[in-house]
Amino acid sequence: MLLPKFDYNAPATLDESCQMMASYGDRAKLLAGGTDLLIALKKKTLTPTQVVALDRIDEIKGFCSDQDGLFLGSRTTAAEIAESDLGPAGRVLSQAAAQVGSPLIRNLATIGGNLATAMPAADMAPPLLALQASVVLQRVGDQREVLLSDFFISPGEQVMLPEEIMSMIVLPRLPEGCGGAFEKLGVRKALERSIVSVAAVISMADDGHTIQGARIALGAVAPTPMLALDAAAGLSGKKATAKNFAAAGKIAAQEANPRGLRTSAVYSRLMVEQLTIRALTRAYEATKL
Ligand SMILES: Cc1cc2nc3c(=O)[nH]c(=O)nc-3n(C[C@H](O)[C@H](O)[C@H](O)COP(=O)(O)OP(=O)(O)OC[C@H]3O[C@@H](n4cnc5c(N)ncnc54)[C@H](O)[C@@H]3O)c2cc1C
Repeated sequence: MLLPKFDYNAPATLDESCQMMASYGDRAKLLAGGTDLLIALKKKTLTPTQVVALDRIDEIKGFCSDQDGLFLGSRTTAAEIAESDLGPAGRVLSQAAAQVGSPLIRNLATIGGNLATAMPAADMAPPLLALQASVVLQRVGDQREVLLSDFFISPGEQVMLPEEIMSMIVLPRLPEGCGGAFEKLGVRKALERSIVSVAAVISMADDGHTIQGARIALGAVAPTPMLALDAAAGLSGKKATAKNFAAAGKIAAQEANPRGLRTSAVYSRLMVEQLTIRALTRAYEATKL
């Protein structure tokens, strides 16, 4: 399949790319790693006349941290995130990034593109939901920060305006004693979109056994990546035991809303239950690191 004709733009700064998106409007598409966009262009499901490439813009690559949290440039690749030490809780994101596609895909695929495509199975969305992430959206003369839990609307649809560019993903600093873990089920071990994925982050009280707070996020089992709020709330103040994790798994399975597209809804719920137990168990182990 050949690519259709379009003008290729390669701005060097975020300001310049915002100017271009403002003048082209919905005739333009942003190009990050291209792993999703180039397929859509070839299949002609997207037909922009202008493509605005982000690869020359250094200000949206890599990450840094301060006392408020961690700031990830949207152009950071899955490979870079997979190879980074983001701490005991942030590890949930590195683990998810390490399971995106294949080494070739991970070298290209960016975190911004993974969120912007808004696929229910986007692997980096559940860990970011569990880490209470927000995204910074930029356009000429304006910048807004949107909680990731308010970002997704439906499969392939999110709240961004056509002229907006996601510049950064913000992870608030979590308290000491937090741990995170990611679990994914696919048909194959590589090059496989998730059938079910679960990310869990828990924080422990000073005694090391009582759960202070938990966040559980699910992928591929609802029209958008979602938080399992009831399952997480039920763990607060409880001991980190197999019995309590099993109860949380059952609640998460009920909260899931699988569409039964790639596998039956019954199987999806069973897998949510099991992967939630595993993710919570590993997240608890990570709090001791
Ligand atoms: C073989 C294969 C296997 C895959 N396996 C997985 C997998 O296991 N798990 C998984 O989660 N995904 C998988 N994917 C999907 C894909 O790799 C990811 O969604 C990837 O992270 C998309 O990022 P990208 O940089 O390539 O985005 P692009 O393809 O460049 O862009 C995707 C969309 O996001 C928009 N966009 C990109 N960056 C921004 C930005 N900064 N601001 C606003 N909009 C932006 C683009 O305009 C476009 O509409 C796979 C894809 C392929 C081809």
